[in-house]
Amino acid sequence: MTFKELGLIEPLLRAIKDQGYTKPTPIQQQAIPIVLNHNDVLAGAQTGTGKTAGFTLPLLQRLSEHPKKGKTHVRALVLTPTRELAAQIQESIYTYGKYLPFKSTVLFGGVKINPQIVTLRKGVDIVVATPGRLLDHISQKTIDLSHVECLILDEADRMLDMGFINDIKKVLNILPKKRQTLLFSATFSKDIKKLADSLLDKPQLVEVARSNASAKSIKQIVHHVDKSRKRELLTHLINMGKWTQVLVFTRTKHGANKLTAQLDKDGISAAAIHGNKSQAARTRALKEFKQNKIRVLVATDIAARGIDIDQLPHVINFELPNVSEDYVHRIGRTGRAGNKGVACSLVCVDEFEFLKDIEKLIKKNIEKVTVAGFAVDRSIKAEPINLGGNRQKQQRSSNSRNRSRNRNK
Ligand code: AMP
Repeated sequence: MTFKELGLIEPLLRAIKDQGYTKPTPIQQQAIPIVLNHNDVLAGAQTGTGKTAGFTLPLLQRLSEHPKKGKTHVRALVLTPTRELAAQIQESIYTYGKYLPFKSTVLFGGVKINPQIVTLRKGVDIVVATPGRLLDHISQKTIDLSHVECLILDEADRMLDMGFINDIKKVLNILPKKRQTLLFSATFSKDIKKLADSLLDKPQLVEVARSNASAKSIKQIVHHVDKSRKRELLTHLINMGKWTQVLVFTRTKHGANKLTAQLDKDGISAAAIHGNKSQAARTRALKEFKQNKIRVLVATDIAARGIDIDQLPHVINFELPNVSEDYVHRIGRTGRAGNKGVACSLVCVDEFEFLKDIEKLIKKNIEKVTVAGFAVDRSIKAEPINLGGNRQKQQRSSNSRNRSRNRNK
């Protein structure tokens, strides 16, 4: 199967060729013809599967089927949970649409609204937005969504987790009823199905391998280690393996800051990205990481959502997530689009329950490897993990989706 066989037009094929893609990924093979056929789509796909091109390419083609007449209107709206993801999707629209005449923009909070208003006033065809800032524009009447022909909800499960459901409903209320809608989600919870039922019209279901957790391109390892020696082990692994680009996950923002400072002290350049960092700081950290100016990016789950870094070789779970699905999202950052990757989890005795939940979710036992010199002290007893306030009580039911709303990310 080639991109040409999927029926894509020449300007898109040229942009794809510039990217060096030789053949469509499974999600692209499935989703592109459906979108080109103007059908609604319910897609189960995660970051790393090529899903962004899976909806961006046919979206651009759909828009070019009816070239705009007169004034430029917003004809396509993409909703995403995070700023980073929004920025990356817009970058993809720009990349794949470079031989087409469409204008796109990205709207998210944490930056000034006025430049966004100016851009909208000049006219754009495609808007990529996070729900909160989009609602700001709607309430200030600085955006007109009455001409939207296509709505895409990306990472819908995460948007629900982050409590955006009411914002999404408000946006849906003002969109034209006659439109094409695509919903992408990594997981299909009851809430997602409810949302899908309420907004999709006879959707075609598209599903690629449930998760990267089962992808052969990711080697998963657990290193059992004492909590107090995790940092030492991390430094050891990075130095011994001469790793240059490592994404490290912590559970909390405070944990991310602390670890970043410690790694810097150990002579390993690191930066943290999390919800308390300004947009400028996050963008800078990601850029420097991509350019290999810093070796380690320490991130919390929500901040890392949607980060697009090609061929990321190493993902480390410095702390296991208390929500098992987050493990799958985290390790999905490595071994992307067929490249080999390693996901290591540093697991202390306090986290055994989390590990059990994760192995249940991914339906396999992760290989346990003891690193020489880091054998665990078996006399250390498990202590409850402080997830803060209510989170403490919720720790045990680690598959509860609700919990992720309360996390300190
Ligand atoms: P996504 O799942 O959309 O985040 O895409 C994951 C990565 O795969 C991105 O870095 C894309 O540039 C890359 N990618 C998308 N489509 C293809 C393709 N057909 N062949 C190779 N790489 C691709």
